[in-house]
Amino acid sequence: MQKQIVYLGLGSNIGNKIEYLDSAIEHISRNSKIKITKKSSYYETDPMGYENQESFVNLCLEIETDLSPVQLLEETQRIENTLGRTREVHWGPRTIDIDILLYGNLVIKNRILTIPHARITERAFVLIPLQEINKAIVIDNKRIDEYLSEIEGQGVKRIENE
Ligand code: ATP
Ligand code: CA
Ligand code: CA
Repeated sequence: MQKQIVYLGLGSNIGNKIEYLDSAIEHISRNSKIKITKKSSYYETDPMGYENQESFVNLCLEIETDLSPVQLLEETQRIENTLGRTREVHWGPRTIDIDILLYGNLVIKNRILTIPHARITERAFVLIPLQEINKAIVIDNKRIDEYLSEIEGQGVKRIENE
């Protein structure tokens, strides 16, 4: 399989969120089939969906990988499980969430994977860090700043000194 440029979205909202994010990044970088090429700043975001929980810290990574989408999903889920992720409440608290946002120019829609990630274009906490690492990204013929102008900032704040 040829190397692909992939964007991952990471989020945490339990305990030491930055430590969980850093430890997820460390696990990702240890995989010999993944090379991390860019990392965004850390952003703090108020919770959405299930609101009675702590704020989130989110960031995006650009990686190069020769893992297939399914292999990459298995690897990111393995890392989530290693870091103690449990699935109790949908959109509820989690130590770490790793989403595959974009995988090259691939479009996938099946039972286990939707790429581009189904909710990417409506989430400022994904679009803002993604735009930080690559302003040229186009999703469904629209640039990230166009999507961002259609939604409110949604309280996404860059964390300084990280
Ligand atoms: P959301 O998808 O709205 O961000 P979530 O991240 O909390 O919610 P999870 O419980 O982490 O949802 O994932 C549920 C399922 O989503 C996973 O088991 C996986 O099969 C599926 N999934 C579909 N598309 C993707 C993708 N692009 N990246 C990661 N998981 C995906
Ligand atoms: Ca998610
Ligand atoms: Ca997820």
